[in-house]
Amino acid sequence: MAEKMQRLEIVTPERRVYSEDVRYVIVPGAEGEMGFLPDHAPLVSTLNIGLVRVYKEGGDRPLKIAVAGGFVEVKNSRVTILSRAAEREDQIDRARAAAARDRAQARLAARTPDVDVARAEAALKRALNRLKAVE
Ligand code: ATP
Repeated sequence: MAEKMQRLEIVTPERRVYSEDVRYVIVPGAEGEMGFLPDHAPLVSTLNIGLVRVYKEGGDRPLKIAVAGGFVEVKNSRVTILSRAAEREDQIDRARAAAARDRAQARLAARTPDVDVARAEAALKRALNRLKAVE
């Protein structure tokens, strides 16, 4: 029997990053990872910077999608993620992420008065997350 599927949509202000039927999805919830199968109870949650893992068919290696925080809504076998930025693993520019990581680390090490520490920490988290998606 065919496995039951659910719709996964990942949207940013710039583009629709992902829109496909999937079997299982794990998202980086603010309180920890959350996994959703079809027919999950309705839910809304905030997301951390982290990886979404997408399982299309049984037992396969998951597709990784880096998300920069945001929200997830689950309703009627549809998982919708809204994030300010998201990239599939094959869309990530590794050199750009490494450069962003180095820039953020240098700012955090210097801590001169002009450095916005929270902003640098968030940039570092985004960069490390992108590198994790492609490792
Ligand atoms: P950078 O300093 O390199 O711009 P950033 O973390 O500040 O990194 P974001 O503001 O999160 O970048 O994203 C801006 C846009 O650039 C988004 O569309 C995001 O998907 C894209 N983007 C950022 N970094 C990468 C990357 N390493 N590879 C591919 N796309 C990226």
